[in-house]
Amino acid sequence: MTNKGREFEIERYRIDQEPFYVESQGEVGLFTTAAQNRMPVMLKGPTGCGKTRFVQHMAYRLGRPLITVACHEDLTASDLVGRYLLRGQETVWIDGPLTLGVKHGAIVYLDEIVEARKDTTVIIHPLTDDRRLLPIEKKGQIIEAVDEFLLVISYNPGYQSVLKDLKQSTKQRFVAIEFDYPAPAVETRIIEREAGVTGEVARALVKLGEKVRNLKHHGLEEGVSTRLLVYAGTLIRQGVEPGRACEVSVARPITDDADMQRTIGELIKAVF
Ligand code: ADP
Repeated sequence: MTNKGREFEIERYRIDQEPFYVESQGEVGLFTTAAQNRMPVMLKGPTGCGKTRFVQHMAYRLGRPLITVACHEDLTASDLVGRYLLRGQETVWIDGPLTLGVKHGAIVYLDEIVEARKDTTVIIHPLTDDRRLLPIEKKGQIIEAVDEFLLVISYNPGYQSVLKDLKQSTKQRFVAIEFDYPAPAVETRIIEREAGVTGEVARALVKLGEKVRNLKHHGLEEGVSTRLLVYAGTLIRQGVEPGRACEVSVARPITDDADMQRTIGELIKAVF
C-alpha cells in the first residue's frame, strides 16, 4: 500500500450514521467534557448494558473515527502498536490500531483491557498522562498523540479476580463512567426500537429482566443483559413463540445450572 493509501485507512473508522443511544445519567455531557480535556475514560459495568453502543454514539457526535480492539489473553503490545511485515522482497511497517488512532485523532476503545497481556499496560501509561506519548520500540520512535486522540477502556469489575485486575497505577489514569442495566422506562424504549416489538412485548421483557436480575444474589453469577432481552424481542418479532424465545435467549445463555434454568423458566411463564 502506498503512503497515500495508508492516510485514508483511518476513514474506514468513521461512523456516518448516528448510532441509536438512550442516555441514562448525563454520560453524554461527561464524556464530551472528558474528551475536550483529553482525559482518558473508563467505562465500568456488566456486559451488554450499552458501553459499546455509547462509545459508537459519542464517536459520531464528536466526529472522531472509532477504532475498537476486543482484548484477549494473546493480545500483545505489538498488536496494538504495529509491526514489520514482509511484503515480497520488502519489509514494511504496518501501524497497529493504537498508533493509527494516536496519529489521526481517533477514539481508541480497548474493550475488556484486563484480558490483554501485561505488556499492553506499559504502552498505555505514557499515553494516559499529560505526556500523551506512544513509544514505538521496534522503530526506535516516540510519537506524540494529536489533540483529538482519546483512549477509552471498558472494565467489568464483576469478572475480576485478585489475580486478574487492573493495577491502581493503571486505574488511576482514567475518569470512570459507571454503567448499569437501564431503568425500566429506558430499557423498554431500547427494546422497542432495537427489536422492533410493541410496547407491550418490550415491557414484558423488561419485567422478566428485572425478575431474573433479582436472582443475582441467589446463585446467579450475572443478571441478564439488555443485549439478550433485545435478542428475545427480535425472535418474538420473527414469530418465535415468546416462551421459547425467552428460553433460548435468556434462560439458556446465562446459566448452565439446571435448577437455575428451571427457576428462570418459571419466571418466563409468569410473565408471558
Ligand atoms: P456492552 O458494550 O456494555 O457489552 P453493548 O453496547 O454492546 O454492550 O449493548 C448491547 C446492546 O444493547 C446494544 O447493541 C443495543 O441494542 C442495546 N443497548 C443497551 N443499552 C443501550 C442504550 N442506552 N441505548 C441504545 N441501545 C442500548
